Amino acid sequence: MRSKMVEPFVEIVRNEQAYLTEIASRGKAIIGYFCTYTPLELIHSMGIVPVRLTGSSRQTDKAYSLVPSFICPYVRGALEKGLGGEYNFLSGIIQGYTCDAACGIVNIWEENIGGKLFYSMPLPYNKSAASGEFMRARMMDLVKMLESIGGDFQEGKLRSSLELYGEIRQAMLDMYTMRYRGSLPLSAGDFLYVVLAGFITPPADYLAMLKTLVSTFTTTATRKPDGVPILVSGSIIENTRLFEIVEDRGGRIVADDLCTGYRNFSPPSGSGKDAVDALIDRYMNRFPCPSRSRVLERLPHLADLIQASGAKGVLFLFQKFCTPHLADHPVLARELNAKGIPSLAIEIAESPDVDGQFMTRIESFLEILK
Ligand code: SF4
Repeated sequence: MRSKMVEPFVEIVRNEQAYLTEIASRGKAIIGYFCTYTPLELIHSMGIVPVRLTGSSRQTDKAYSLVPSFICPYVRGALEKGLGGEYNFLSGIIQGYTCDAACGIVNIWEENIGGKLFYSMPLPYNKSAASGEFMRARMMDLVKMLESIGGDFQEGKLRSSLELYGEIRQAMLDMYTMRYRGSLPLSAGDFLYVVLAGFITPPADYLAMLKTLVSTFTTTATRKPDGVPILVSGSIIENTRLFEIVEDRGGRIVADDLCTGYRNFSPPSGSGKDAVDALIDRYMNRFPCPSRSRVLERLPHLADLIQASGAKGVLFLFQKFCTPHLADHPVLARELNAKGIPSLAIEIAESPDVDGQFMTRIESFLEILK
């Protein structure tokens, strides 16, 4: 059952279009993005609201006329919404270059839906001084583009945005720590609503909501830490029902390696000689995503999360056709198995209906872990 504590977050997620249209009607420019490698702090500091585009669980007939069926349901669903006019309030899309599906959609969107600004920002794979210089140059390209649509760049404003986003991420990471200890009074489905609302809500408003939420924890009984502890790893998860089924069937999601989760928050901030350097430092050293790192670099991060959370197994949940995650999976599963950590991989489609096969596979996996 949905907790009353998360109702404000659920409300925003369920009424995304009306919520954002109202913000745009106040004269605020809104820029969309797909992946969490987009430098939100920079966009926000220039007076523009960055909003993560969400997928759709409906038929994607319009999108099918422009893209093949074998791209991930998430970006296909977002395109469908764009073609249907649901993102008419957007000034454009800025995307940190991660996977080809997301970046390809940016071009298709520009040609078929239109807007003022479209940019797939190149990102370095390596962490070196030259990579940092490259990224700084691309950040400055982005500053010029945002200025062309009315943005105003000031170092002091960027520093304020870095602090604001850093505070949000730290608040979320504190909740992750509570979750490891079994003292977070939210189910995994409710917690996902809290995360998803953060992609839509302007950051100052979202931070206020998080503070209100956390203040209610002290007066709420802690959640009983029962169920088999598992970690969920994969790409974007928008369907809270998946987590509800796992927990209803006797699992307890204690940690995640998701871009709608921990990967978006760790680390909370970076450091450097100026605000742009601090921004670059955070994005170059953030918790790795398969689209921007090599599989064996991800493994120690995953192992640390398993150890910190006490997870007994890993449930991989992939968007269908999500190439970066599917390519890493065989190596991760093999290496985890060698460490005595069983795993299960399931591809999810756009349908909100979770089929019986999903439930059966979850039940069998949990039996193995008991
Ligand atoms: S990383 Fe995967 S889920 Fe995310 S946009 Fe790319 S293909 Fe889709």
